[in-house]
Amino acid sequence: MLYYCIFAPMNEADISTVRSLLSKAHNIVIVPHKNPDGDAIGASLGLFHFLILKELKVKVIVPNDYPKFLKWMPGNDEILNFEKENAQAIAALEKADLIFTLDFNDFSRTGQLEPILQNSSVDFVMIDHHQQPADYATVTYSDVAMSSTCEMVYNFIEYLGENDTISKDIASCLYAGIMTDTGSFKFSSTTSRTHRVVADLIDKGADNMQIHQEVFDTNSANRLHLLGIALKNMVILGQYNTAYITLTQAELDMQDFKKGDTEGFVNYGLTIENIKFAAIFIENKDEGIIKISFRSTGDFSVNEFARDHFNGGGHTNAAGGKSNSSMEGTVEKFIGLLPQYQKKLTV
Ligand code: 5GP
Ligand code: MN
Repeated sequence: MLYYCIFAPMNEADISTVRSLLSKAHNIVIVPHKNPDGDAIGASLGLFHFLILKELKVKVIVPNDYPKFLKWMPGNDEILNFEKENAQAIAALEKADLIFTLDFNDFSRTGQLEPILQNSSVDFVMIDHHQQPADYATVTYSDVAMSSTCEMVYNFIEYLGENDTISKDIASCLYAGIMTDTGSFKFSSTTSRTHRVVADLIDKGADNMQIHQEVFDTNSANRLHLLGIALKNMVILGQYNTAYITLTQAELDMQDFKKGDTEGFVNYGLTIENIKFAAIFIENKDEGIIKISFRSTGDFSVNEFARDHFNGGGHTNAAGGKSNSSMEGTVEKFIGLLPQYQKKLTV
């Protein structure tokens, strides 16, 4: 079925440019954002399998490591980690004549890869659903209304008229990314179209129950203990309909913190009645920063909040940022900002 008459952010000119770029490309690289999440890995591997089926040479390069609960995806072992396999990754980037950038809107989201991408003169294709896309790509497929970059990769394949080539591997990766980026199909960006895409992915072989288990039912006891600490630390600021959580490095260390262990913790704040704004502050002593995640419901834009005050960004209802101050200083700044948003948070 063709949907691009209704959902048409890629126009005919874009599609034919992509076709011509693919026909000329000898070495393609796919890059997702730093600290890649389910959508970033799912979209990268989904696109990887699609391009491999077209007999193209493709490498996925992630800026750094990602959680274990994403490492079951088909093609995972082919991924080059820029931090761990630096020489191989650099060689692949030097050879590349076409780079797909997935699930981010600006090179600054790629950590150590930023200067390399910035100085590259090859063609870029951006597929992304974050706000304020930068203008570096030959083809920019950006749609902030989309649930996930994985849904966009599905559309991208459909735009090329190749829906029939979607294999079980492609379907599994894209399903995983849509599932994680929509909070299991519950965020407001989840449309009837999202469900149609997901239904088609299941028809094409994605095992929805198994994927759900791989991602959500592979907790360690330490992670659940850490969740217990996070929930105990939660502070409710009723007058601002706001809840926040802190986790210090010492608390993380106590539970033998592994990457991804705090994924989703911030959402618990929003499960409290009337809470519209939730934040989590996580100390990272190695990087000397406090990493922050923001979530909201309704019109309150955490993208703007993160951009304006915490050097970050994201989406209207899910964003992130960072602070170079101490935990106390960061939380103090956060609380100090709330009065100016009281009206927006209490309507
Ligand atoms: P999370 O809180 O799950 O890390 O991220 C939520 C959303 O905000 C994601 O879409 C992510 O890409 C974006 N995001 C997280 N951290 C940052 C950041 O430091 N800068 C920007 N621009 N976006 C971020
Ligand atoms: Mn995403």
